[in-house]
Amino acid sequence: LDANVCSLLHDATILHADLDAFFAAVEQRDDPALRGRPVVVGAGVVLAASYEARAFGVRSAMGGKLARQLCPHAVVVSPRMSAYVDASKAVFEVFEDTTPLVEGISIDEAFLDVRGLARISGTPLQIADDLRRTVREQVGLPITVGVARTKSLAKICSALAKPDGLLLVPADAEAVFLHALPVERLWGVGPVTARRLRAVGLERVGQVAALGEPALVALLGRGTGRKLHALAHNRDLRRVRARRRRRSIGAQHALGRRQRTPAELDAVLVGLVDRVAGRMRKAQRVARTVVLRVRFDDFARATRSHTLAQATAETPALLATARALLGALDPLIERRGITLLGVSLSNLADTPSGQLGLGFADERARALDATLDSIRERYGNSAITRAVLLGRAERASLPQLPD
Ligand SMILES: [Mg+2]
Repeated sequence: LDANVCSLLHDATILHADLDAFFAAVEQRDDPALRGRPVVVGAGVVLAASYEARAFGVRSAMGGKLARQLCPHAVVVSPRMSAYVDASKAVFEVFEDTTPLVEGISIDEAFLDVRGLARISGTPLQIADDLRRTVREQVGLPITVGVARTKSLAKICSALAKPDGLLLVPADAEAVFLHALPVERLWGVGPVTARRLRAVGLERVGQVAALGEPALVALLGRGTGRKLHALAHNRDLRRVRARRRRRSIGAQHALGRRQRTPAELDAVLVGLVDRVAGRMRKAQRVARTVVLRVRFDDFARATRSHTLAQATAETPALLATARALLGALDPLIERRGITLLGVSLSNLADTPSGQLGLGFADERARALDATLDSIRERYGNSAITRAVLLGRAERASLPQLPD
């Protein structure tokens, strides 16, 4: 390895992205009356508490009765799991747009490795900043990101930066940063281990680091002792592992409450299809089914899908289908207003080798896809917008869909 490669490998390129008070934040997003107020999700057991409720000592997994004693004026709401799953999907779409190396940890948390993206997307700090802004703009939720050279330190960073924060520890500042922290901050140190450490006067990570592995093993047992010794020195070789192959690829766009003209909606649709189709081609996959999701002003939802005769990753074919699906919903949208538009592609398969352009578009359209992909590859997603290239005239050639 030459010097440049080594320095890249040792840079802080691991992001730990974690939504803040996730379920409670979704409730506050969807009901303006809840914003700025203490919100508790779940009546029996607290599933989530907004930061306003946490200020009164309310915590997740706490009994509902205790929560009401601590914060009698909290608004208690029933969980809406499907809304949380939708929000999670939308956030993971932003993650997947950021880097192919995304490892989901839970419904609201993931590790991302952004190594090697400097030329395309900027430094890890810029990428983390963009990620936070995009999640805020597209999904309407606050997210905290920690950035470091290892998974464990990135996770410590996000915990410290919460809520709605960003914290990066550069590789050359790790020891100073880590050693000043209380032992509880180390990943895997629960109350029991913390008590044992504190009982022998070990309060800071630096003291644990100075102790030496044999002494830690004697104190905590072999497994925990070794692990803590490594983590106190920020030795954590675990890599970010991308999840197994996805079964669908999608993107969605929150529209707010303002009324949209058909032309505006079409522009949003074009952007969404462009984004998912580009991702399909990047992943060398093709799709047969186009799914359109709509949320109305009153939070009701509608989903429409159409399965094509042949799998494709070509934007014109996918866009024509998505436009037809949206067109069929026009009367409903007109009546009820639209607040969210989403497109996803499913029935995925690998791109058949040697027949990249099966079926739909002509050579020119395929060349356009490839050109746009490479421009975005080089200059980022916002570098070019397809709306100017694919005119509304295409609406005339929509395929007719069955009801
Ligand atoms: Mg979280």
